[in-house]
Amino acid sequence: MTKDPAGPHGADDIADETADVIVVGAGPAGSTAATYLARAGLDVLLLEKSEFPRDKVCGDGLTPRGVKQLIDLGIDTSEDAGWVHSRGLRILTAELTLELDWPELTSYPPYGVARTRHDFDDLLARTAVQAGARLRQRTTVTGALTHERTGRVIGVEGKAGQDKRPVRHRAPLVLACDGVSARLALSVGIDKHDKRPMGVAVRRYYKSPRHDEPYIEGHLELWDRSDPRDPKLLPGYGWAFPLGDGTVNVGLGILSTSKAFRNTDYRALLRSWLDSTPPEWGYQEENAIGRIGGAGLPMGFNRTPHYRDGLLLVGDAGGMVSPFNGEGIAAAMESARLAAEHVVQALARPEGPSRERALHGYPRAVGELMGGYYQLGNLFAKAIGKPRVMRLATKYGLRINPLIPLVFKGMSGCYDTRGGDAVDRLVTVLSRLAPTPR
Ligand SMILES: Cc1cc2nc3c(=O)[nH]c(=O)nc-3n(C[C@H](O)[C@H](O)[C@H](O)COP(=O)(O)OP(=O)(O)OC[C@H]3O[C@@H](n4cnc5c(N)ncnc54)[C@H](O)[C@@H]3O)c2cc1C
Repeated sequence: MTKDPAGPHGADDIADETADVIVVGAGPAGSTAATYLARAGLDVLLLEKSEFPRDKVCGDGLTPRGVKQLIDLGIDTSEDAGWVHSRGLRILTAELTLELDWPELTSYPPYGVARTRHDFDDLLARTAVQAGARLRQRTTVTGALTHERTGRVIGVEGKAGQDKRPVRHRAPLVLACDGVSARLALSVGIDKHDKRPMGVAVRRYYKSPRHDEPYIEGHLELWDRSDPRDPKLLPGYGWAFPLGDGTVNVGLGILSTSKAFRNTDYRALLRSWLDSTPPEWGYQEENAIGRIGGAGLPMGFNRTPHYRDGLLLVGDAGGMVSPFNGEGIAAAMESARLAAEHVVQALARPEGPSRERALHGYPRAVGELMGGYYQLGNLFAKAIGKPRVMRLATKYGLRINPLIPLVFKGMSGCYDTRGGDAVDRLVTVLSRLAPTPR
């Protein structure tokens, strides 16, 4: 296997290449997969349309489940290394505020982290390069190259460099880590399942004295109080993730199961909500930094199969955002690791049925890890799309103390699947009983 020493910025003069594996997209999924693949000794070509460091619209928050993935990669997640730690989640409704510390578990650390995607994705991409992956930036993949006779994916085609010259790269296996646009999957006819939930989220940064709060916040009710005599409950759920540098990432998301989905000006909605928050929080226009950014949240396995004919779908490209809480980075990294493990095994076998058997293990492994849990999440998303159900849940459900750990662990995905307490066991059993969305 050959390794190319060209560094992260050496993309412009390189034309068509071959590799053991091509990874398309250097977000959390792509960089994680590329790191594990390169560490296993494979020749990895990592293609990215933008140039690092670059921004990506996100809430910038990781639960302990995501932190575990960073630790597994060997990344220093200490505050000294630039990470902002959270000790838990503060849930807010009109009537109550609950502060819940991240649970003490065997599987995950007791802290979450936040870091802008400007830094986060750059760090992960550099980790992949250090591991030996050949990162080619400013390379936009336009579709899969397929074998004339078998239809199997044998590489990708795209445009590279400032002059957008056409390139064709070849490898026996390709990982689609290209995010919600899923251009690669679409190019081979893997469409999304419209019946599964989807979300849209918008966010903006604000200078705020709440920048070093120890809890990340989930706002289960968004109120427009511009007319104090007639406060209006707005659709969607909000968050505020402190970034420790004088700013807070504040945003909201709406599920496709809500009537307001697609019929709403999301940016105006964010402003209506934030204009009604206490002025001392600072979430007003004069404290805003940059514009409001938004993007889709592909949830609950809304694009499958996750493996077909030489192409593996990983992270958002495979619809892996959690329908419970909109978190997608942890799942992107978890699926990336599984994809890498299966690719390494597959490439150690001769081409043919034995290799295919190893590759078909990937969708099964992803399904076992998150399929049943996401199926429950899809039902949950359907239920809370109805404002009446959500109102009852927040008004009464959050007052039943024994239910709170179940809601918290279930929604954050932070529970032990082996051992653990009664709540962990209940979430695990329910997830195992639910079928994986295929
Ligand atoms: C407003 C908002 C807030 C969110 N907040 C959170 C949060 O707080 N925590 C959390 O865990 N998740 C959050 N998410 C979800 C999270 O952003 C995604 O789930 C996560 O980024 C998925 O990682 P990924 O690597 O699969 O895809 P991406 O991060 O989208 O990475 C895809 C990469 O592929 C590149 N690419 C795309 N197309 C091509 C192409 N054709 N050729 C080459 N390269 C290409 C892109 O430039 C990008 O670098 C949020 C999402 C939104 C929209």
